[in-house]
Amino acid sequence: MASLPATLGAFRGADAPDLEALRKCVHCGICVPQCPTFRVLGEEMDTPRGRLYLMRAAAEGRLGLTAALGRHLDLCLGCRACETACPSGVPFGALLEATRVQLRRHGPPSRHRLLEAFVFAVFPEPRRLGAVLAALSVYRRSGLRWLVRATGLLRPFPRLAAMEALVDGVPRAEPLPAVVPARGRRRGRVGLLTGCVQRHLYPGVNRDAARLLALAGYEVVVPAAQGCCGALELHAGRADAFRARARALAAAFPADLDFVVTSAAGCGAAMKAYGHWLRDAADLGAKTRDVLELLAEAELPLGPLPLTVTYHDACHLAHGQRLRQEPRALLRRIPGLTLLELPDSDLCCGSAGVYNLLEPAIARDLLERKLACIAATGARVIAAANPGCLLQIAAGCRARGLDVEIVHPVELLARAAERAP
Ligand code: SF4
Ligand code: SF4
Repeated sequence: MASLPATLGAFRGADAPDLEALRKCVHCGICVPQCPTFRVLGEEMDTPRGRLYLMRAAAEGRLGLTAALGRHLDLCLGCRACETACPSGVPFGALLEATRVQLRRHGPPSRHRLLEAFVFAVFPEPRRLGAVLAALSVYRRSGLRWLVRATGLLRPFPRLAAMEALVDGVPRAEPLPAVVPARGRRRGRVGLLTGCVQRHLYPGVNRDAARLLALAGYEVVVPAAQGCCGALELHAGRADAFRARARALAAAFPADLDFVVTSAAGCGAAMKAYGHWLRDAADLGAKTRDVLELLAEAELPLGPLPLTVTYHDACHLAHGQRLRQEPRALLRRIPGLTLLELPDSDLCCGSAGVYNLLEPAIARDLLERKLACIAATGARVIAAANPGCLLQIAAGCRARGLDVEIVHPVELLARAAERAP
């Protein structure tokens, strides 16, 4: 999409959406019932078909980059469930991202300017995020949180309240060694992305991912200087910042790795799109694998884990990377573990990057639907392969008082590996 005509209807310059891809939509509506925002809002313009109609109208010059167009695209979770459903192969995710780039560059200002400025100054910057989380930890332990909740101080500020409810505690940091040696028969050498939210809030997931990869025969390299993959920026249409992060990440990993592995589905989906957005990081994009993708191909010694588990499909794993069977197959390999299928397992939980902070009402509605499905399974453990989903579902379970454990699948696999005969 980098070298399209200078103008395409309302779109201008590089990174315009691909008109031919927009015209692939035949308006059949098969995607409509799969769309979470349609399920919540029931509006045609908040379906994939409606959004594609608007994008195409803009590309054909029948519509400007109006606030209404921006609003319908803002409300999209970017979950890509519509891509999975679409029989015509419409690349909705890429079209959405390209249109958001146009809106950011040439459209009306965002209605969430302040919050977005905070999010993009903090979330993709691991040091700043660490400092904010440390402050949150103090706030939680000092009793101030109790006071804020008891007095309902944040009630008039739903976005702040959503942010406050999301993080319950910050675990002790677990820095990984620069290299984790392979064990047993060597399969190759991989780099591990530690992620921004992941390294602070789920360091145990990175630790378990490295251990399992080593057990599967991979030497694991963990560059200390690695930064953010840029996923949040890509989803917000901040193409220049996204490209800069992709370039920096590509430079942080040695060039001779077989794969670069992530256990955060959102990061993996964005990294796998690097080749589409810039040449400099195309190689890294092509080498990117989700940890479950690699582990599914390997032999792992696993001992018994007598648990009843249900699995939530993170959108950017199931729809963004088409990885549905691998996580399930891996969990089924654990002796004694019963995997219960979650109804609507690939319906977005409402997390969607920072969507739960920007659009808390819709995110809450989707979370309630997810929690009802979880409760219907009766499972005591919920597995999901993305930190955003883990945070969102855990916050919902806390608020409902559900006595369940929320984990990444690698945590269950690592526990089972420790019990291997
Ligand atoms: S990406 Fe998700 S929310 Fe957006 S139109 Fe597609 S299905 Fe709906
Ligand atoms: S995006 Fe695909 S499934 Fe949805 S209306 Fe268009 S052609 Fe049909």
